[in-house]
Amino acid sequence: MVLSKIVLAIDLGGTRHLHVHEDNEVFIKDLVSMKCAFFPASRWKRFVGIIADIDKHVQLASVGKTTKYREHIGGMWHVSVDSMYPNVNIRRWYEDSMGILKPSRVGIALSFWNWDKLKNAIDKVHDQIPALVAISLCWHDSQLDLMFCDECSPYHKMDDINDVKAAEATENLMIDTELGSSDILNKRRKMH
Ligand SMILES: [Zn+2]
Repeated sequence: MVLSKIVLAIDLGGTRHLHVHEDNEVFIKDLVSMKCAFFPASRWKRFVGIIADIDKHVQLASVGKTTKYREHIGGMWHVSVDSMYPNVNIRRWYEDSMGILKPSRVGIALSFWNWDKLKNAIDKVHDQIPALVAISLCWHDSQLDLMFCDECSPYHKMDDINDVKAAEATENLMIDTELGSSDILNKRRKMH
């Protein structure tokens, strides 16, 4: 594995650091335990977009209210807050043999202290690495496209994909029978 250069490092408290690498990938890691959360640029964007949501649940949990939150941020990664534990969990989840999502050992649990420092670090990250702000979220033309995207649909199953294919085929068939062939030709012309 070729290690890319770190272009920005921010202390998140204790042994936790945020690193941005020269390829615009973001890492939140513990320098001692080596536990780590990893964000390609588009995942970072999605994560930053839900900071306020996550924070709402952190505020509830920190005053002793019961809350349970989990949000997909891309790939197999999820952010969760559970008032049973005083942390923000950024972690890979996997599907077990029954199709139930479960947290893996890969990821990092940030204390609320780390979390506050991370929130403050985000502006600094975006000031210094504007490319991370400019990046766009995934865009998909069709449902099939979306289902084949590993970032958006990491747990897709062949069955689901076949269902969508069948539905799309039926839809096309309906268009074909609804319209005469000349109408289809006109419709195609209009589309160009
Ligand atoms: Zn996608």
